[in-house]
Amino acid sequence: MHTYKLYKDRERLLQLLADAGIPPRILQAMATVPREHFLPPALQHFAYENTALPIGWGQTISQPLTVAKMTALLEPAPSLKVLEIGTGSGYQAAILAALGMEVYSVERQRRLYETAVERFRRLELAIHCAYRDGTMGWPAYAPYDRILLTAATEFPHPDLLGQLGPGGLCVFPLHNENRQYLARLRRNDDGSFSPIERFDPCEFVPLRPSIA
Ligand code: SAH
Repeated sequence: MHTYKLYKDRERLLQLLADAGIPPRILQAMATVPREHFLPPALQHFAYENTALPIGWGQTISQPLTVAKMTALLEPAPSLKVLEIGTGSGYQAAILAALGMEVYSVERQRRLYETAVERFRRLELAIHCAYRDGTMGWPAYAPYDRILLTAATEFPHPDLLGQLGPGGLCVFPLHNENRQYLARLRRNDDGSFSPIERFDPCEFVPLRPSIA
């Protein structure tokens, strides 16, 4: 692989993200996580293009700008506990870990789960993973300060939202009448939820029930 090309591409991508208003500490986290390590060998050359890329089994690693926007909406902070639904390549989870968060991530597709676990081991990332259907979360480690869905849904399941602690945020791709938007729910200190906030359009694979 041409290291110099990747280096130049990465500089350009980080500038694109900065121009889009992504905060510096998120840029810094994205600068430290080598996206090429989360891609199949044949696609590593495209690691720093601002595009989603196939990772097998019909799934994709998200577009870097979308990862950055979702991360910003999540209002990350060190040592907050975050649950991600849809580990996929593991790239988004690695960004959250680079921000000092305590990351729990679940994946329904066995081969993607196994590949991500191996990747985290190799990169020495202490991310807690499970092979399970995340529709209803991962109750064993609840409550979480943050919940991030990286697969689209009309609305997160009440059991999943129930695992969000007071003051917590849930960010997800909201699927509504053939369109998708980044969306956010905030849990109030009394346990109720504030009205849904809607942000930029996005494109995610659907959240699917059951494991595969
Ligand atoms: N966050 C990923 C991108 C994920 S693509 C990354 O950074 O690469 C969406 C992922 O969600 C896919 O891997 C898909 O298999 C997974 N997924 C879909 N429905 C799911 C469910 N119910 N539970 C867990 N994972 C799910």
